[in-house]
Amino acid sequence: MSVNQVEFAETLKWRFLPIAMFHHVSDRADWGSLRPYLVREATFLAFLNTVQQRGMRTVTFQQLFEEKRSHARNELIITFDDCGKHLLEFVLPELEKRSMSAVFFVPTAHLGGTNDWDVSEGRAELELMQARDLSDLHKRGMEIGGHSHHHIHLGRMNPDECADELQKSQQELTRAVGKPAISMAYPFGSIPPAAKPLLSEAGFAVGCSIFSPSSHPWQLRRFIVHDGDSPKALSVKTTALYAGYRGIRDSFKVKTAFR
Ligand SMILES: [Zn+2]
Repeated sequence: MSVNQVEFAETLKWRFLPIAMFHHVSDRADWGSLRPYLVREATFLAFLNTVQQRGMRTVTFQQLFEEKRSHARNELIITFDDCGKHLLEFVLPELEKRSMSAVFFVPTAHLGGTNDWDVSEGRAELELMQARDLSDLHKRGMEIGGHSHHHIHLGRMNPDECADELQKSQQELTRAVGKPAISMAYPFGSIPPAAKPLLSEAGFAVGCSIFSPSSHPWQLRRFIVHDGDSPKALSVKTTALYAGYRGIRDSFKVKTAFR
């Protein structure tokens, strides 16, 4: 990990950074088993409208890293885990229409494949992006981040296996995009005990989680958008105050498995 990455991680005002977590966005009825990791298109649009109405703008970790700064008060980060190919058809144009950016976390061993880890639990199968889709997203100003190589519970692996997963992920991302990734998200929200050195050695500056007893650049909390969220709820979730409140509430929350 370069000095620049360490400096960036320390610069980030992570406690008050609103980070939204999405997986799949579709109205397909046969994908219902993927809820709550699937939201309707209208829900996603309502979220984007809220961001615009609140005068907020989207940034990526890569952008903050390159500009050597933390986020401004009116900035938030939108993230997508797993990289279903369908995101390119609806989500991408809607983001671009609004000049918005997002971060896409992909499990590299599954590029061009499907969400096997969901299927093994009886959930619907869907197609995932290919390497060339990542390169295209990157060229359009989106950030590509890691999601382990095989989409596994990193918290259940030994340190050598974790290191291998993260390094393979970084190698594949670098090959697909042409430059190293600086961010990653833990599959199932499963964080390995020595997350900081493991991520650093693989060249990642930040790691995204969901609920975490404490948060730091290697364990950034994210909020989930649900189909039932009212406009008021969406508005609250995108505030720095809510990010700070989650920091306190999650200290008491039992770790839950997420995809
Ligand atoms: Zn995932």
